[in-house]
Amino acid sequence: MLAKIVLRNATFGFDKIYTYLVPNELSAAVQPGLRIMVPFGAGNRLRECFVLETTVATEEAGSSYALKELDAICDPVPVLKPDQLRLAQQMKIRYVATWGEIMRSMLPPGLMSTADKGEGMRPRRERTVRLVDPEAATELLEGEELRFIQQIRVLELLLEYGEVTVAECRTLCQISDSPLNTLVKKGIVVYGWRESEAEDISAKAVTELAPHNIENMPLTDDQDTVMNALLSAFDAPDGDARRLREFLLHGVTGSGKTEVYLRLARKVLAAGRGVIILVPEISLTPQMVARITQRFGDEVAVQHSMLTARQRFDQWLRILRGEVRLVVGARSAVFSPVDNLGLIVIDEEQESAYISERRPCYDARTVGRLRCVNSDALLLLGSATPSVESYYRTETGRSRLLQLSSRPGGAHLPRVEIADMRKEERLGTSGLISMSLYKLLAETLEQGRQSVVLLNRRGYSAAVVCHDCGAGINCPACSVNMRWHAAGRRLMCHYCGRIASLPSHCPNCGSPYIQAVGCGTQQAVSAIAELLPTARILRMDQDAVRDEGRGGHAELLRRFAAGEADILVGTQMIARGHDFPDVAAVGVLMADLTLNQPDYRAHEEAFRLFTQAAGRAGRSTAGEAGIGRVIIQAFDADNLTLQAALHHDYSAFYTNELAFRRQAGYPPFKVLASVRINGHIERAVAERTQFLCEKAIKLREQHCPDSEIIFSRATRSGIWQLSRRYRWQFMLTGDDLAGITAILQNLALLPLRKDEKGITQSFEVDPA
Ligand code: ADP
Ligand code: ZN
Ligand code: ZN
Repeated sequence: MLAKIVLRNATFGFDKIYTYLVPNELSAAVQPGLRIMVPFGAGNRLRECFVLETTVATEEAGSSYALKELDAICDPVPVLKPDQLRLAQQMKIRYVATWGEIMRSMLPPGLMSTADKGEGMRPRRERTVRLVDPEAATELLEGEELRFIQQIRVLELLLEYGEVTVAECRTLCQISDSPLNTLVKKGIVVYGWRESEAEDISAKAVTELAPHNIENMPLTDDQDTVMNALLSAFDAPDGDARRLREFLLHGVTGSGKTEVYLRLARKVLAAGRGVIILVPEISLTPQMVARITQRFGDEVAVQHSMLTARQRFDQWLRILRGEVRLVVGARSAVFSPVDNLGLIVIDEEQESAYISERRPCYDARTVGRLRCVNSDALLLLGSATPSVESYYRTETGRSRLLQLSSRPGGAHLPRVEIADMRKEERLGTSGLISMSLYKLLAETLEQGRQSVVLLNRRGYSAAVVCHDCGAGINCPACSVNMRWHAAGRRLMCHYCGRIASLPSHCPNCGSPYIQAVGCGTQQAVSAIAELLPTARILRMDQDAVRDEGRGGHAELLRRFAAGEADILVGTQMIARGHDFPDVAAVGVLMADLTLNQPDYRAHEEAFRLFTQAAGRAGRSTAGEAGIGRVIIQAFDADNLTLQAALHHDYSAFYTNELAFRRQAGYPPFKVLASVRINGHIERAVAERTQFLCEKAIKLREQHCPDSEIIFSRATRSGIWQLSRRYRWQFMLTGDDLAGITAILQNLALLPLRKDEKGITQSFEVDPA
């Protein structure tokens, strides 16, 4: 017997399908999806790999005298199922990544041996390891600078899990302490300590967050209509009615989407099929997990970042063995080895968390779609503010739109107002709070109810806005906002790299009052504390969550839900998915920061964020008096996206945005691809980028001479220097997805020269 195999770790040059002889005593055990060891290369070093396919050794395959024999098998059973292997093949064509990278994205990173690992004792305090700088670690991995597989495994594990105990790291990576010590010496990882009880906090928070079970209540009429459409597609016999298996469920927050997912899941499970429910980031949606666990108990496997690596591995094993057929998890749960898949639900489908930042840079929606087509399953995307791409699919007949228009409890939509910061009196030493918002917060405090204040501060650079007309400064080439880099005292377009100095007057209205705006949640907290000295304020952002330790997010939410604070101030992480019945008021500070993100999706994100934030207010059913109030502060108060958010008007936003995308040539009308290069020596990075850019143009002539593809010049990236590495890039835009992917894949094959060692390259295609 012969086995066709691919390597777990290989550079693009060696990333091929190899054939090995299977010794007779192993031929019963070797099957597709199995992990095995083979001798490789001139030195016959043992390498880990996956079996893609087995074939009978025939005469003509019979130069087999030259074939090597595989050495050993790693696990008693295949770790990848046939439909996953098929998916891997499809992904190999679609994404620029090696076989090993694709397989690894499908497996829990801790997978080393499914043999019994022993439970082991847990001391009270455990030694842990974590990465010093995840960004730098990603680059080390991609730069193929690490030569030892043990070190690579450790970095992969830590990138996935953040902090793990040393004991976990040792078993899961099958290493001794010495690779860890080496990594510590190199300054890549550090040791720390953790209380072993730490994660119970989040478990407790999750239990407390579980709402009361409404499984036996009747569905609303709207929900009923939606359910019927989904069930008749699920039950449809072969034929035309069966063809359209993709749905987009559009409904405001609180309209009962989750209830539809859960009841549909129940039906699909009853039909003997498997279900995967994806949520953007579980630690951000503890209530969702609580609700599913409450209802499905042992039938559900949960894959989330609050679990330890070991717990996640155990959950995966339960799925692999077919002990559970319902999985809830974040992005990578789309790969769960669920048998006989019948349904994939993707909640909050518009979230960027569904796109992987590491190779393969896949989009869980695209992968989910492939899996559903392969398994003849339903794909259900849900959102209050669908992505422009997904909504466009419903208009072009590739997906079907389902709508939920009202809230089941009869709760009303909040009343949204815009505070025009060009006219408003600004309060507090930082001038961050408008008079109207101050009044709202003060009133709410007096009524003994809660408020939420959002300040979406992101990125390394600031937006620039005119304090008179509210306009930002656009890149002449890209129609996105340029950013202010204080260090270089200049404006830069993060798309094409174009540089400009700050104009003395607003190009739109001629006002001299143009300024960079940028400041954080801490200032917002002190501004509010200054204005409302009696208010109890809770801050929630990356730093506050990290200070809380593991499960920090859930813990902060729990405190706020328990009424331990009057005002919650935070970044976009407070806008999502949780239900605080007592929140009566929401304020959004500096909406311009979000509107002016240097990305073609900036307005989409802004609309979503404002709508979601507004959705935090008035979720209680206290009638007219209980209607929540929302104030959005902005300089650019007339902005069409803001106006659409003001009226809760998705379709106005969508129409507008789609026109912009069409005119500017962005997705869903064009495919947008980027090639990013970085390394320590800027000249080498620049030359490599230039070289690839020229090659790309030649490759187009070979691979798709007839398709129109626009190539940008090779330029510095927006954030052109990060952790002592320089970054360059160029972009490709066109209609021909297959052509563009083919070009990128061929670029990835071009080996680095000796003097280019340490350079990393990434290739991304949007929509991913
Ligand atoms: P979404 O996912 O759209 O935010 P949910 O499914 O979470 O909506 O529903 C919002 C609220 O309405 C929840 O508190 C839920 O318990 C309640 N709810 C949903 N469907 C019903 C129903 N058919 N009858 C009564 N209450 C419902
Ligand atoms: Zn102006
Ligand atoms: Zn530009």
